Amino acid sequence: MCANIPKTAYPRIVVIGAGFAGIEFIKRLNNEKVQIVLLDRHNYHTFQPLLYQVATGVLEPDAIAYPIRKIFKKQTNFLFRMAAVVSIDTQKKTVETSIGNIDYDELVIATGSKTNYFGLKDFEANAVPMKSIPESLNLRSMLLQNFEEALLVTNEAKREAMINIAIVGGGPTGVELAGTIAEMKHHIFSKEYPELLIDSMQIHVIDKLPRLLSAMSAVASQKSQEFLAELGVMISLDTEVKSYDGAKLELSNGKTISTRTVIWAAGVAGSVIPGVPEQGVIRSRYKVDLFNQVAGCDNVYAIGDVAAVITDETPNGHPMLAPVAMQQGKLLADNLLRKVANKPLVPFEFKNPGVMATIGRKKAVVDMSFIKFHGFIAWVLWLLVHIMALVGFKNKIVTFVNWMWHYFSYDPGLRLIIRPYKKKKVDDSEEN
Ligand SMILES: Cc1cc2nc3c(=O)[nH]c(=O)nc-3n(C[C@H](O)[C@H](O)[C@H](O)COP(=O)(O)OP(=O)(O)OC[C@H]3O[C@@H](n4cnc5c(N)ncnc54)[C@H](O)[C@@H]3O)c2cc1C
Repeated sequence: MCANIPKTAYPRIVVIGAGFAGIEFIKRLNNEKVQIVLLDRHNYHTFQPLLYQVATGVLEPDAIAYPIRKIFKKQTNFLFRMAAVVSIDTQKKTVETSIGNIDYDELVIATGSKTNYFGLKDFEANAVPMKSIPESLNLRSMLLQNFEEALLVTNEAKREAMINIAIVGGGPTGVELAGTIAEMKHHIFSKEYPELLIDSMQIHVIDKLPRLLSAMSAVASQKSQEFLAELGVMISLDTEVKSYDGAKLELSNGKTISTRTVIWAAGVAGSVIPGVPEQGVIRSRYKVDLFNQVAGCDNVYAIGDVAAVITDETPNGHPMLAPVAMQQGKLLADNLLRKVANKPLVPFEFKNPGVMATIGRKKAVVDMSFIKFHGFIAWVLWLLVHIMALVGFKNKIVTFVNWMWHYFSYDPGLRLIIRPYKKKKVDDSEEN
C-alpha cells in the first residue's frame, strides 16, 4: 500500500493524532507555507470527556465525534490519511504506517494515551475499558444486555451479579460514570425492569487513594463523595482491587463484590510509538523540553497526553488534560513559525483554567484558582463549558437538546442494543 502523498515545495509536517493537541496545532498553521499531513487511525476526532455519556446512553456517538476532514475542509495546506502509525525512524525521518512509509521534515506526535491496567492481567482480561467510542458503545451494550439476561435467571445471587456494577478508579471518569448510572438505577431501571429487584442493585466505586477526585481540592473530594452517597453509590477508598475472574471482584480490604461488570477507570499511560531513542521516553510518555521537543531527537515534537514536560516544577510532567493538550498544540505551532522567522521561542507554561466534574444530572464540583464551588451552579457551568468545547455547531445543539431532555424527563432514552457487546481479547492491540 502507498500513502500517495504529493511532494510540494513546502516543508512537510507529519502530525500523528487528531486529538485536542493535534487539531489545535494544525488549525494554528492555516495558510502557512507548510504541507501538513495528519495521520489518525480513526477518521474522526473524539471529545473524550463525554465518553461516559455515550456509555450510559445519554448521548449518541456522533454528538461527541466530528469528522476530521470536515474540521479542516477550508485548510488548503492540509492532507489527511486514515492510518495507524506503527513505528518511527528518527534517523531516516520517516514513519511506518498501515498504509506505507511517510517521510517528514518535522514530526509532531500527538497520540494521546491508552488504558493502563498496571500489569493486572485479570482486569485486562475481564474489566471493561472506556477510552474510545467503540469501547463506550461496547460498555453500553454490555450494561443493557446484562439487564436483559438477568430477567432470564432465577438464582437470586447470579441475578444480582448481573446488575451490580463496580467502577475501579475514583477520578473524574469514575465519579461521573457512577453518578449517571446511579440516576439510571433510580429513574430508568426501576421502571423498565420491574421484575428485577432494582433496589438491591449495587454501584461501587473503588480507589486506592484516600479520597475521590484526588487531583482536585479536598472540598471537591468531600462534596463528590457526599453527592454519590446520596445517590446510593458505595465508595471504597484506600482500597486496592486484588483479582477479578469476570464474576467475583476481590478487594484488598477483604471484601468481595459479585458483579459481571467491572469498569476500568483507574489509569492511562501515554500512547508511545516504538522507534524514538530511549532517552526520549520516560514513564510511558515522550520526554520533552519546554518547547515540546523530544529529548535527543531533532525535528521531533510531542504534545498533549503523550508528552511529559519534565522540569523541577513538573517532575512527572503535566496532568493528562485537554487544556494542556490544546495549549501545547497552539504554542508548538507558534514556535515552529518563530523558528522559521528566526525569532526567540516561547517556553510552555500551563495556564490552568480550572477542573470540574459532574455528579448526576444537576450537581458538579468546580475548582478554579480563585474560587471553588459545587452544586447546581457548578453543574450549569460544567454544562456550558462542555457545550462550548465540543467541536461543531450541530454537536453543540444536539448535545444541548439531549441534556435538556434528560434534565426534564429524567430519561436519556438511548437504550438500543444495536451492536451487541463483544468481549475483548487480552492480546487485542490497544487502541484509543
Ligand atoms: C473518559 C475520559 C474522560 C476525560 N475527561 C476529561 C475532563 O473532564 N477534562 C479534561 O481536561 N480532560 C479529560 N480527559 C482527558 C482528555 O481527554 C485528554 O487529556 C485529551 O484528549 C488529550 O488530548 P491529546 O490530543 O493528547 O490526545 P487524544 O485526544 O487522546 O487524541 C489522540 C489521537 O491519536 C490517535 N492515535 C493514537 N495512536 C495512534 C497511532 N499509533 N496511529 C494513528 N493515530 C493514533 C487517536 O486515534 C486519537 O485520535 C478525559 C479522558 C478520558 C478518556
